Amino acid sequence: MDYLARAGYNTVTLAQLYRHLTSGEPLPEKPVVITFDDGYASFYEHAFPRLRERGFVATLFVITDKVGTPRYVTWEQVREMAAAGIEIGSHTATHPDLRELEASQLEHEVSGSRKTLEEQVGVPVLFFCYPGGYYDEAALAAVQTAGYLGAVTTVFGAAAPGDDPLQWPRVPVSRGDTPKKLQALIDAALARSGS
Ligand SMILES: [Zn+2]
Repeated sequence: MDYLARAGYNTVTLAQLYRHLTSGEPLPEKPVVITFDDGYASFYEHAFPRLRERGFVATLFVITDKVGTPRYVTWEQVREMAAAGIEIGSHTATHPDLRELEASQLEHEVSGSRKTLEEQVGVPVLFFCYPGGYYDEAALAAVQTAGYLGAVTTVFGAAAPGDDPLQWPRVPVSRGDTPKKLQALIDAALARSGS
C-alpha cells in the first residue's frame, strides 16, 4: 500500500471502473482496484485499518455462509466496512466450483448470495468473484441473470475497454511480494492489456 501511494496510484472501486468503461466517467491518474477475496477476519483486523489510514478504497468479496464463523468477518464488521467505503461484492454462499453445480444450486450461490448480502448490508451488491477463478458458460449466464454488472477472475491482466465486464482479469499479489515485484506485475498486466 505504501508503494502504491508513493508511486502515485489512486485506488478506485469496481463501480468506478464500470462507470468509466461504460459511460466514460473520468478516473484519477494511475487508477488501481484493490480486491480481497473470501472475507477473512484478517481483512478486518489488518487490511481495513491500513486502507483507512491511507484513504484507500478496496473491494471485499464475501462468502455469505462463512460470515460470522471462525476466521471470517462478522455481519457487523461488513456493515461497518461498507459504511466506511469498502465496496462489498459476492464470492458466493459456500465457495463451490461453479462448473460442478446444477442450475438451482448455481442460482442459490450466485443470485442468492447477492440477495443475502443486500439484505444484511443494505447496499447494492453489483460485483462478483468466481471461487477459485473457475467458471463456464452457465456460470457466466447465472452472473448476468443475477444482475451483477461485473465479475473478476484469476486471469492475469489489467481491465481494458474491450473486455467483457463479467470476465475482468486481475493481478495476483502474494504475501512477501516486494514493491519491485508489484510494479513488475502491474507493468506486465498493462502491457498484456495493451493500455
Ligand atoms: Zn476464494
